[in-house]
Amino acid sequence: MASDKEIYLDNAATTYCNGEVFYAMQPYFITNYGNPNSVHQSGYAAREAVEKARASIAKIINADPDEIYFTSGATESNNWAIKGIVWASPIKRILVSEIEHPSIIKSARWLAEHGVEVEYIKVDENGIISISDLLSKLSKPACLVSVMTANHEVGTVQYINTIANICSKNNVYFHTDATQALESVSINVKEMNITALSLSGHKIYGPKGVGAIYIKRGTPIDVFMHGGHQENGMRGGTYNLPAIVGLGKAVEICMRDGNTNNTRMKQLRDYFIKEVEAKIPGVKLNGHRNQRLSNNINFSFRGVIGESVTAMLDTMGVRVSTGTASTSEQLRRSYVLQAIGVSDEYIYGAVRFTLGRATTKEDLDYTINCLTTVVKKLRTLSPVNIKAGGSENV
Ligand code: PMP
Repeated sequence: MASDKEIYLDNAATTYCNGEVFYAMQPYFITNYGNPNSVHQSGYAAREAVEKARASIAKIINADPDEIYFTSGATESNNWAIKGIVWASPIKRILVSEIEHPSIIKSARWLAEHGVEVEYIKVDENGIISISDLLSKLSKPACLVSVMTANHEVGTVQYINTIANICSKNNVYFHTDATQALESVSINVKEMNITALSLSGHKIYGPKGVGAIYIKRGTPIDVFMHGGHQENGMRGGTYNLPAIVGLGKAVEICMRDGNTNNTRMKQLRDYFIKEVEAKIPGVKLNGHRNQRLSNNINFSFRGVIGESVTAMLDTMGVRVSTGTASTSEQLRRSYVLQAIGVSDEYIYGAVRFTLGRATTKEDLDYTINCLTTVVKKLRTLSPVNIKAGGSENV
């Protein structure tokens, strides 16, 4: 059974490409297609477009343009940040939070297999970094701390200012993955003492396959992509010109419309939370209630499997996910939910709803109706629930 409805509430997985972004990119495929490294007029025009995008990215985080490097996305930026900084440092010890995106967690594991000491900073039940754990782990020398600005699954926003200041006082570099946070959290890398920051185009209504990394001037970091002399020889590879132009435009739109979008989304988010908590028994909001992304809602429904909820909502035209796009095909305990201590009865029933610029209150009302029906139905079928003594007991 398929529905002719299409309600997209998976904006943390990816967003649509904004029309203004698309039209800004278009000429760079067909007419202005020069290689930004070419030393002729076509190359100069292309180079100018790349530098304009770089300046916009620098502006949104208060960096200087020469501190911004283009990459293929936040996965690459994250890999480069932590591998590049640790390889360039004589201190082979890093600290990362236990709820980082897999591009950090798996890079850290790989580094551990290659002789680097890796420790995982604990988070509390809301997903906030434990400052006491960070401080105790910093009593031994480390070269880098990496803590994401906001979590992709439960939406918790960290106090990165505090963490960055602690790192600075301890002479440790600080990297933050701001992929999910660029539009909703204001970041000033200079004031906040941030050494490196990752971002991506397709989470902010830009194109997929392009991102950037900010690296504070003077930070020792190894080259990640060996190749041509693009990006000061730090990241080889012909510029993805249309995508870079698109990323620049997407960032400009975040700067222009971010406040308005965030205010609207926060109202919708809080409305959805309130309605679901009032209408569905046995729900648990995962992540911090207030210190969370303006578009993120992550609920666990007791006695149901999140994957069953997402599949049934899909047939009703509602696109949601259990967590990250990278892990949701497999039924397993989310490491993020484990880290924040979600109990067994709730951990399998998590569903993430991430609102977007196009989301309306009507979309949410329809979703809440579908969700109420789906959860009720699944609870009557669930063996977990039969053991628990009936659907309305949850
Ligand atoms: N970090 C976070 C927090 C993310 O949510 C994602 C995307 N799921 C990434 C990194 C990877 O970004 P990209 O898809 O651009 O490689």
